[in-house]
Amino acid sequence: MNELVLTIEGILKWFYSFGIDYPFRNNRNPYRVWVSETLLQQTRLDAAVGKIENFLNRFPSLEKLANADESEVLYAFKGLGYYNRARNLHKGARFMLNTYSGVPESYGELLEVPSIGPYTAAAISSICFKRKILSIDGNIRRVFARIMRMDNTSPAFDAKLRSLVESVYGDLEYHPGDLNESLMQFGQMVCKAKKPLCTACPVSSFCLALSMNMVKQYPALAQNAEKFTVNWKILIIVFENQILLNKYQNFQFLKQQTGFPSMLELENKELFSSKSKIVSRIFKQSKENVFLKAATHSITKYKITFHYQIIGLSRSKKSRKLEGHSQSLNNGMLMMDLEGNPVDPEMFIIDEPDLFFEKIENVSGVLISSGLSKVWNHALNSISARGGT
Ligand code: SF4
Repeated sequence: MNELVLTIEGILKWFYSFGIDYPFRNNRNPYRVWVSETLLQQTRLDAAVGKIENFLNRFPSLEKLANADESEVLYAFKGLGYYNRARNLHKGARFMLNTYSGVPESYGELLEVPSIGPYTAAAISSICFKRKILSIDGNIRRVFARIMRMDNTSPAFDAKLRSLVESVYGDLEYHPGDLNESLMQFGQMVCKAKKPLCTACPVSSFCLALSMNMVKQYPALAQNAEKFTVNWKILIIVFENQILLNKYQNFQFLKQQTGFPSMLELENKELFSSKSKIVSRIFKQSKENVFLKAATHSITKYKITFHYQIIGLSRSKKSRKLEGHSQSLNNGMLMMDLEGNPVDPEMFIIDEPDLFFEKIENVSGVLISSGLSKVWNHALNSISARGGT
């Protein structure tokens, strides 16, 4: 029998004995599989499991998701990051409902859906509709790069791998979803990226990389992607137990989400700034050292450091120069900008309609980004310590 068939069978037998029965794999409903596969992308498996169930409880059907507001869908993604996935799920649900009245069966139709790529289309087709299509993810690439000593850096790698493996799928009388799942779990648990368990591997006798003592060379490392450093400065403006918030419109990181008035610099060039003139003036006049570092966070190729400054506004007429977070927040003297000019809190809102005041106790509930939530937790301690709540 073909060695590739024997190898995949060996991995399947291992899977039926040692594979993990994830709760989200028990139900082969196409909508559930689509949501699970999307949430699993770019999220650690252990972190995603509970979130998948919560999301599916909140939106149990394609109709419920398609008819929800985008803000609800974004909120259900809280803590998972990569919010474009939430927007894409929402868009995809609307598209499928309008175009197919449900999740389509064929790989080609699934690829038409905004947000569904080859991996997810193959996963849905194989798991739910028994189509013998390989769903290629990083685990599967690594497993075959090693077993067959394939050059995974070649642009034709995925196509070559698909045609090779699918050419023997017809000889394997197993559920196509299990074929894909077994290869994936084998990559996660045995043929791991670091320290593969070659001595316990059920298919070691077929592994070309092992036979040539070259496991460490496979898969070949892609060039490290360049990371960009972003400084994200935030104003936490407190006024009578309320915080000034900003609904971001065209902001690449948190589009349509709510955060604080902000200014972002990418290598000393301004990347984004809240439009308000008063906010810009405060940023301009603030000394670097009044910003406190709160957290670091990575989004795709950006390494972000968050800094914040707390500014208290009150209705007092008494004048005093503002020096940032070192000022007491409840002494009734801070209704002015850094040059001592009076600032009416209303002016922030008139100046930019996307700014609004929200009660302190509601702020955690409207923040979706985990980076901004960290900043808020940090700032809240200082505000509480100064008696600002
Ligand atoms: S022998 Fe090692 S490298 Fe080869 S498939 Fe098994 S775990 Fe992976």
